[in-house]
Amino acid sequence: MAEAGAETGFALTAEDAPAHRVRVLLPLPFPEPFDYRVPDGMDLPDGAYVEVPLGPRRLFGVVWGPALPKPEGQVVSDAKLKPVLRRFDLPPMPEVSRRFIDWVAAYTMSQPGAVLRMAVSVSAALEEPRLLTGYRLAEGGAPADLRLTPARRRILEVLAACEGMPRPAADLAEEAGCTPQVVRGLADAGVLLPVPMRSLPRFAVPDHDRPGPVFSAEQQAAVDVLRAAVEQGGYSCTLLDGVTGSGKTEVYFELVAAALRSGRQALVLLPEIALSAQWLDRFERRFGVRPAEWHSDLSGQQRRHTWRAVAHGEARVVVGARSALFLPYPALGAIVVDEEHEAAFKQEEGVIYHARDMAVTRAHLGRIPIVLVSATPSLESLTNAEQGRYGRIDLPARHGGAQLPDVTLIDLRKPDAAPPARRWLSPVLKAALMETLAAGEQAMLFLNRRGYAPLTLCRACGHRLQCPNCTAWLVEHRLTKRLQCHHCGYTARAPDECPNCGTEGSFVACGPGVERVAEEVAELFPDARTAVLTSDTLVGPRAMQLAIEQVKDHAVDLMIGTQVMAKGHHFPLLTLVGVVDADLGLSGGDLRASERTFQLLHQVAGRAGRESRPGRVFLQTHMPEHPVMQALAAHDRDSYLAQEVEGRQMLEMPPFGRLAALIVSGEDDRLVDQVALRLGRTAPRERAELTILGPAPAPLAVLRGRHRRRLLLKGPKQLPLQPILADWLARVEIPAQIRVQVDIDPYSFM
Ligand code: ADP
Ligand code: ZN
Repeated sequence: MAEAGAETGFALTAEDAPAHRVRVLLPLPFPEPFDYRVPDGMDLPDGAYVEVPLGPRRLFGVVWGPALPKPEGQVVSDAKLKPVLRRFDLPPMPEVSRRFIDWVAAYTMSQPGAVLRMAVSVSAALEEPRLLTGYRLAEGGAPADLRLTPARRRILEVLAACEGMPRPAADLAEEAGCTPQVVRGLADAGVLLPVPMRSLPRFAVPDHDRPGPVFSAEQQAAVDVLRAAVEQGGYSCTLLDGVTGSGKTEVYFELVAAALRSGRQALVLLPEIALSAQWLDRFERRFGVRPAEWHSDLSGQQRRHTWRAVAHGEARVVVGARSALFLPYPALGAIVVDEEHEAAFKQEEGVIYHARDMAVTRAHLGRIPIVLVSATPSLESLTNAEQGRYGRIDLPARHGGAQLPDVTLIDLRKPDAAPPARRWLSPVLKAALMETLAAGEQAMLFLNRRGYAPLTLCRACGHRLQCPNCTAWLVEHRLTKRLQCHHCGYTARAPDECPNCGTEGSFVACGPGVERVAEEVAELFPDARTAVLTSDTLVGPRAMQLAIEQVKDHAVDLMIGTQVMAKGHHFPLLTLVGVVDADLGLSGGDLRASERTFQLLHQVAGRAGRESRPGRVFLQTHMPEHPVMQALAAHDRDSYLAQEVEGRQMLEMPPFGRLAALIVSGEDDRLVDQVALRLGRTAPRERAELTILGPAPAPLAVLRGRHRRRLLLKGPKQLPLQPILADWLARVEIPAQIRVQVDIDPYSFM
């Protein structure tokens, strides 16, 4: 206790002068923030972004609060305690953001520092951005005696068109077709004035007063509810459930407008692939400017710029993928989660979390409204609405009276409906395609399988080509002439001879991928203009935008696409959708397989007949009696859902029970087994309300060279599983080479 006094001559401890010490959360996997000394004269409010030493390193951190009193004997002296090195010039991280980080860490059983790293994913954003030097014309223009070379004249012309706006030398030079040296020469001659300028422009404020559409009575009622939620303030969660094309987007834009009107920020979360140029264009039409975007395609510079603009409250509307939730909004006033049922909101690596669920918590902590939007809401959200925890708004009709498409099931078991050998399109679908193309309309064939064939095997010995790093077949891609593993990205050239039996040219493709369907289409409709649209062919948002424009301009008659084409797009001439293998998602038997298949196929079907021309949908299936197929054909979501709810209730599966998964992985097969077995032995089996399954090899038993075992814990809805898991994990020693991941509310069972 006396150590501080002994060294400094004053009898001071942390308890006596707490203002001298702060807890700083570091972006590292430690369970707690660390204490640092506050240098004299440094003002460090809670939430301040600081730089601190850790061993030989310098790290950023966030002040999490004053240092807590320590038990006697653990108090470190002032002299020994490392000081905060500096404070970054930024508004402090808001209290609600800090509480959110702690909450997410506790819920997902992650280290708070790992969550902080998601909130400050670009630490370079903490630094003041370097200003560029821009040039503008000096007052009085060019002096009469200036030697005017053609290059100099072009520069002056370019600048004259800029109306006084400064431009960086490199930009000017590029536009004038000369070297930046010419620009600097003009500056030296006093013709141009150098001025400091920001590298990227400020985010313009969206104009919430621009007129929106004239709403139908139903839409208006929905808008009124959402506006009232903002005006009344406080937390509320509303499920906006409406068929595709019913105007959900237009309606939730009014929530955004209301948040803006109240002087706050708004966040729209979208699954990454739905964040399209089309969506951004619509936003711009409604609000006059583009929103701030936050997704994986941003450059480092855009990321820094956007992060700072959010932290300063200058970016008023952010649209982003799940990680946008963790940005440090100082005045968030409303959240929208569009396509809330999408599995893409679940992050499966690092901190494993569901962005929709965390968004609801964020709204709760911030006491603001949140809207969950979908044409096929998740059973979780529907149940929450049913049980009164969420409000609910329905938009049952398509805008402008467009009819829902006609859905026909093609029973592939029937001889006259089955495609010929090694072909994938039924004569029924073929005939429909022919009619559609003859009418000058567009069609889409949907198959959620990239590449040419999902499996390649040797005709001579039956050997299958498998990924060396994963429990997965290699997928043939003819476009790139490679074999690919869709789990780890491994690629290889297709071998000439079988590695097992040595037979040459013996490999045959089994089953269809989109490339193979495209081959069949080219045979059947040689004159149709076709496009294969997958994540392989559409790399980056620009490629996607280009493809969409081509389809809209009717430069394409027939699209063959995977799930990247299932969502959001609005093509007026698209009247036929053919689903090549409607049963694809039903195999595998995971908890949500049928729910997800229903959602995906419903969404794909919703692409057909979005405007005045009626749409038709054909589903090729071997299970026409399956409840999913029946519900799609009859447009009867409710009876399907009722059946699904009954099954889950009976098994006490989510949303009527809770699940948590443990995934044990490592390179050493035997060690992984040992740890998994030890976890199995120490599982809390004495508690009757819990069910423990496993350990068992994961379906993806090897992934990226790591062996994997799974355990699953199931408990009743009212029982939080985190303390049980914490207690369980504390009883087992985990060697450093083995990783045990905790997945609360698992969505993937691979
Ligand atoms: P959803 O999000 O439910 O799929 P959208 O908001 O995309 O529906 O609406 C479908 C189409 O109908 C869009 O082109 C949209 O601009 C248009 N639309 C919806 N409501 C209106 C309205 N009240 N007035 C004019 N156009 C509307
Ligand atoms: Zn692999």
